[in-house]
Amino acid sequence: MICPASRAATLGQLDGFIPIAGLYARDRNHVKPGHPSVSRLAPAIRHRLITEAEVVAAVLRVHSFGRVEKFIQEVYWRRYWKSWLALRPEVWSDYLKTLAEMPVDPHVQRVENSQSGNAVIDHFVNELVTTGYLHNHARMWFAAWWVHEARLPWQSGAAFFYRHLLDGDPASNTLSWRWVAGLQTPGKTYLARRGNLEKYLAPELLDSLSSGLAAFEHPQALQPAPVFKPPVTRVDCPLETSILTAGVGLWIHEEDLSVENSALGQLPFSAVIATADFDTWECHRFPVAKKQWIAAALQDAARRAEQHWQTPVALEIRTSHGETVLRWAKSNNLQQVVALRPEVGALNDSLPTLRASLAQAGIHLVLIDRPEDLPIRQWATGGFFPFWERLRKTLVTPMEKVPSKAEQLWIEFPL
Ligand SMILES: Cc1cc2nc3c(=O)[nH]c(=O)nc-3n(C[C@H](O)[C@H](O)[C@H](O)COP(=O)(O)OP(=O)(O)OC[C@H]3O[C@@H](n4cnc5c(N)ncnc54)[C@H](O)[C@@H]3O)c2cc1C
Repeated sequence: MICPASRAATLGQLDGFIPIAGLYARDRNHVKPGHPSVSRLAPAIRHRLITEAEVVAAVLRVHSFGRVEKFIQEVYWRRYWKSWLALRPEVWSDYLKTLAEMPVDPHVQRVENSQSGNAVIDHFVNELVTTGYLHNHARMWFAAWWVHEARLPWQSGAAFFYRHLLDGDPASNTLSWRWVAGLQTPGKTYLARRGNLEKYLAPELLDSLSSGLAAFEHPQALQPAPVFKPPVTRVDCPLETSILTAGVGLWIHEEDLSVENSALGQLPFSAVIATADFDTWECHRFPVAKKQWIAAALQDAARRAEQHWQTPVALEIRTSHGETVLRWAKSNNLQQVVALRPEVGALNDSLPTLRASLAQAGIHLVLIDRPEDLPIRQWATGGFFPFWERLRKTLVTPMEKVPSKAEQLWIEFPL
């Protein structure tokens, strides 16, 4: 398995990667069977079995900052994409709307069935579908071929990745596809070139896939229609002000599966539930293997929550979470349901309905951000490098910290 579905085994995989993290800058671009030069932690980070901050802290305990800067930068690319989309949620809803309006395209279906006619592309489709993972370079080549060579819509390519990748993420995936298509950085598209594949594909793969290389010989960019920069439309999420001391239940969902390692870990709860985002699984046609991976990760989160809060945790994987959370909250006579706030994406889209149905029953939904995410979210108003430069300073010499509003919330909390 590319990445285990439990926190303990994820920490073990991270331990195994740490000794080679110092070689990451040199080796990370090479696409080799088994992917020995990269961490393969993306599914665990995506579902927050482990956070970016934990990964970075573990690496910095062993290496100097300079030695692992490239790796840390990549880890924070993810947080940059999350933050960028958090500030511009319409980019996600526009993508979904366009996708819903697209007719079924037989060409797309052929590619998704490994019948593209190109050995390189068919190889990556097989790898994606059987393992739920692709190396970053393979993702770039594949997306570039899809958009610029096959001239297929980037949205259907993004949907294909989102369905199969165990780390399929509304921000990293959608925005990376936009970047390849030249929408994310106006004037810049990404093209996959034969020389680049020949340099970075392992010799054994190159031998067997050589018939597909001609398609990467003279790539021609498909220039998008005039691109406008999506404006920042959501500067801040509404802050919840108070959590009661009784009648409060904790809802654990697949957007953050280590709740006990957040500020919520310090609070008592009268009931705890973990649910799958079953509607999204169905709507985006997640394959069985991906559903099993997320279900196992949810089970792991529920087990840890049981130990941490010393209370049984209800686990619901096969029903719509909206109905399940409502039923559970009512049967436990809750006044508040508390959860870590899901970021922009499918689960977040379901929250207005859940909030309204809970409110009808007199129950308040309280969403809490992880304090470490909040200050840096606002730095994603421009490109990655200004974001990184600000973040880098906090990693090299930690700032004297002024608590943010959300952090003050915790300080003021009656625990
Ligand atoms: C078209 C396309 C689609 C992508 N879709 C996703 C997606 O749905 N989910 C996802 O997590 N990543 C996505 N990526 C980014 C990147 O390819 C993966 O995060 C990375 O390959 C995961 O493998 P790893 O865990 O071995 O990464 P490592 O190289 O070991 O990096 C460590 C961690 O840093 C983060 N990271 C590394 N590279 C990037 C990057 N370029 N952008 C954002 N975060 C990064 C990931 O969390 C990763 O686990 C996409 C990239 C492209 C080009």
